[in-house]
Amino acid sequence: MIFLKSERELTLMRQACRIVAVTLARLQEAVVPEVTTRELELLALDSIRSQGAQTAFKGYQKFPAHICTSVNEEVVHGIPGARRLREGDIVSIDLGAIWNGFYGDAACTFPVGRISPEAQRLLAVTRQALERAIAVVRPDHRLSDVSHEVQQFVEAHGYSVVRNYVGHGIGRAMHEEPQIPNFGPPGRGPRLRPGMTLAIEPMVNIGGWEVALRPDHWTAVTADGSLSAHFEHTVAVTEGEAEILTAAPA
Ligand code: MG
Repeated sequence: MIFLKSERELTLMRQACRIVAVTLARLQEAVVPEVTTRELELLALDSIRSQGAQTAFKGYQKFPAHICTSVNEEVVHGIPGARRLREGDIVSIDLGAIWNGFYGDAACTFPVGRISPEAQRLLAVTRQALERAIAVVRPDHRLSDVSHEVQQFVEAHGYSVVRNYVGHGIGRAMHEEPQIPNFGPPGRGPRLRPGMTLAIEPMVNIGGWEVALRPDHWTAVTADGSLSAHFEHTVAVTEGEAEILTAAPA
């Protein structure tokens, strides 16, 4: 069942999502060569707690950390640790916050110092795929129209979309119905309705879409070792254009 949020509930979600957005902006400043992913995790933890919220990921299905940090060929669910980021890396940071019972969830792939033109293009295309998807989030559209938009945009640029992980409804739980794949034919699934809140999150690989799991049982990597990027926003369906709840603070 898809839960439609009341105006009061949306007010709470806006706050949870703003805490996530503020934290991502702080992380962007902190992503520099030689920083460790553990240091980024501690910064995120401090940012979320200092805004009166809790982190959403630690302990979720026994995930061992407060945020996910996925470097280069790592797709999602990388575990922060002693790894030092190097000039030319890309790092996807995914984080969630819980505030007054509501969740916010967002992700962004950041460049570490100067990165290759190829990596720049991957980040640009993945970010644009998310923007294109959000532009389709309108009450006259159906859920798989969003999925289709991501796939056709990404594949038109010669990249592939990850199939094993999907976006999701979000609210009083981090993962609510519906699931939102980043591929598939248009015109299917439920009609979008005002009050739906959705986490849309294209994961894009330069090579093939297949992923493998590292021995830590969490970190998903591209099967062919190619670079991967991930951008995510929590959005609310309105009568018109979607409201991006995790939009970067002004
Ligand atoms: Mg998510």
